[in-house]
Amino acid sequence: MAERGGLMNGSKARCAKGDAWKRRLLPGLERGGGVQRLEDGFGRRFPYLRLSVTEACNFRCTYCLPNGYRKSAPNDFLSVDEVSRLVRAFHALGVQKVRLTGGEPSVRGDLVALIAAVTEAGVEKVALTTNGWRLARGLKDWVRAGLTHLNVSADSLDPSVFARVTGHDRLSEVLAGVDAALTHPRLTVKLNAVLLRDTLSEGFSAYASYLKKRKVSVRFIELMRTGDNAAFFAGQHVPGSELRNWLRDQGWSPVERGYDDGPATEFSHPEYEGRFGLIAPYAPSFCDSCNRLRVTGRGKLRLCLFGDGGVDLRDVLQTDEDRDALMARITDALFFKPRRHALLTGNPGDTKHLAELGG
Ligand code: SAM
Ligand code: SF4
Repeated sequence: MAERGGLMNGSKARCAKGDAWKRRLLPGLERGGGVQRLEDGFGRRFPYLRLSVTEACNFRCTYCLPNGYRKSAPNDFLSVDEVSRLVRAFHALGVQKVRLTGGEPSVRGDLVALIAAVTEAGVEKVALTTNGWRLARGLKDWVRAGLTHLNVSADSLDPSVFARVTGHDRLSEVLAGVDAALTHPRLTVKLNAVLLRDTLSEGFSAYASYLKKRKVSVRFIELMRTGDNAAFFAGQHVPGSELRNWLRDQGWSPVERGYDDGPATEFSHPEYEGRFGLIAPYAPSFCDSCNRLRVTGRGKLRLCLFGDGGVDLRDVLQTDEDRDALMARITDALFFKPRRHALLTGNPGDTKHLAELGG
């Protein structure tokens, strides 16, 4: 079983601190300078929410949904009103960055309204992760609705390899969308690529050429084992050290991480406009700097991407009157956030694939 942070280990951590009595009264909630902040028993704070808005996806990425999306329950994902109430509550608890993800968020016809709901809640950074199939068409409206951060997945810069990995021959459309996004001065743009044995032969140099003159980060994500991909993982996992060593040899240096940054370590180089990033969930200290919480497309709070179960929030998302109950449920749940995932012992929790939870 994954190590439980909550009751036993969490209370030990609390006692070690001088204001332990406050936290016992208000588990998961810390007050500082009049601002409420979510904090767990290990002193980690949570300014960042990743919100899945659908499990559905039109791509068939080899590491995620190789057979395409199969509906396992009705597609009754959170409505715009529910998202609005949820994000307002998280914002009142100190969340300043919300990422809409999925599945593929742009398969939702009301994505613009969802982005606007996050913006109107007062969140500073409004982010979206997408496979890019609708990017060129949707971009203008997404930016107008308040989008500030955009991550686009591009697992290869070779069109045929991209098609093999995603099941769609659409690399040129995706990259055209990225170039359009780069013309919006207030939009931060990143590419995501999963590190795969299959695509490694292409090397990292194609991405280096790509970002030589583009102000974009290319973040490589170490392949994670999920419930559904054990055999694929065994053949395709590449340790993050392969990229780290290449970057060191090519003169790239690590950049300091910001308070609400995602999990990537970024690297810069004086001769390049863009940056590389590495997300290495198998690194021993990966969970120490965890600053994010997740909510699934049907409104379940997940404390860890690779945990079990979750806390249902949907019943307290139905009316504005339930806001206090919603906030209390979130703060109480934090008490149970585990110290770390158990991926290293081969236990991905009950996550079948990341489309379920929004990566
Ligand atoms: N559909 C969107 C996309 O692909 O960008 C958003 C959802 S997807 C689940 C979010 C991110 O998780 C993508 O960058 C994807 O490459 C990554 N991902 C999915 N499964 C993964 C796995 N098993 N290991 C590492 N990254 C994974
Ligand atoms: Fe879809 Fe994203 Fe999963 Fe690929 S990684 S199958 S685009 S949800």
